[in-house]
Amino acid sequence: MKVPFLDLSERPQELVDQDLASVDRVVRSGNSILGSEVMAFEEEWSAFVEDYEVVGVASGLDALEIALRLLHLDAGSEVVVPAISAAATVFSVLRAGLTPVFADIDLSTAQLSMESVERLIGPSTKALVLVHLYGHLANPEAWKDFCLSHNLALVEDCAQAHAAKWKGRPAGVFGEVSAFSFYPTKNLGAMGDAGALVVSSTELAAEARRIRNYGQARRYEHVSFGMNSRLDEMQAAILRGRLPSLERENLRRKEIAQLYRNHIKNGDVSMLAPPIDIENHVYHLFVVRARQREVIRDALLKSGIMTDIHYPVPLHRQHIFESLSRDPEGLPAAEAFASQCLSLPCNPYLTDVQVQCVFEAINAHRAV
Ligand SMILES: *Cc1c(COP(=O)(O)O)cnc(C)c1O
Repeated sequence: MKVPFLDLSERPQELVDQDLASVDRVVRSGNSILGSEVMAFEEEWSAFVEDYEVVGVASGLDALEIALRLLHLDAGSEVVVPAISAAATVFSVLRAGLTPVFADIDLSTAQLSMESVERLIGPSTKALVLVHLYGHLANPEAWKDFCLSHNLALVEDCAQAHAAKWKGRPAGVFGEVSAFSFYPTKNLGAMGDAGALVVSSTELAAEARRIRNYGQARRYEHVSFGMNSRLDEMQAAILRGRLPSLERENLRRKEIAQLYRNHIKNGDVSMLAPPIDIENHVYHLFVVRARQREVIRDALLKSGIMTDIHYPVPLHRQHIFESLSRDPEGLPAAEAFASQCLSLPCNPYLTDVQVQCVFEAINAHRAV
């Protein structure tokens, strides 16, 4: 049996029809950019983040960059980032004119390690980007307290954690500013690039709206250092159509994760620590650690099962980021993790039979 990692051409017909209806509506409206669909999407996404202000932008990277710019830190201020994340987390800091500093992760969860962050905080450290990696919102309150006591601004990178919750509160409401990506493969994805910021005041929202549109307060009145990061109507309409499926699809991801946790029994494959509560994790990715990863990956592939790796190279080992500072004790957990992590298929369109096929193939595999 074939088990794709994620095949967006296999979405159910009713979801495809919904997309086509969204596209049809935009084409007929004649509006393309920053129109009524964008405004409606911002409001609808706001309902998922406790009615905080939402500003739609062109990508997750832009949302993070603008989020960081809203902090008005001195140029070159240090911003803590985890060594395991998407490269966008680091690029956003550099693009905002700030200096990323790499912290290590906790090997059991792959989340940012507080001990490591503590070691690298200095007088120039002004902010921390908390990445809810793989969709796991792991005690953001503790990080909020930590940042408060160390005088750091907390920025949430929610690109993988749409509608993950901590004690009933959603990802995106714990930071001073937060950023979402709606890249097509995310839990909520568009038909192209899209992103959004979540902020707590109308002033910050107004500033973000200026920045995304050439710094304009009004037409041809450029008051901020602007960029072109406008969300277009087509993406906003698609997102609106897909939004009502998000909770159901997240639920399916959690079911699949639970099947993996219950049934995978192989001494060479270990699970990451489970979330404290089921609501904390929306399983954008289901990641395990595997000894002899390439061997097991090949065996799965021979059974028709596609896997992926997030991420094969820790960010501090990327050539472009090699000169950036890091935890003075090194980043051993990030390095060990990058050599072992393996992402199993975990998307809402998989059937139980496909999931069973994956865990049976893993259980049948014996390392040589
Ligand atoms: C996808 C992703 C981003 C970047 O989003 P884009 O929309 O691709 O720019 C940032 N951070 C994390 C953790 C991501 O997974």
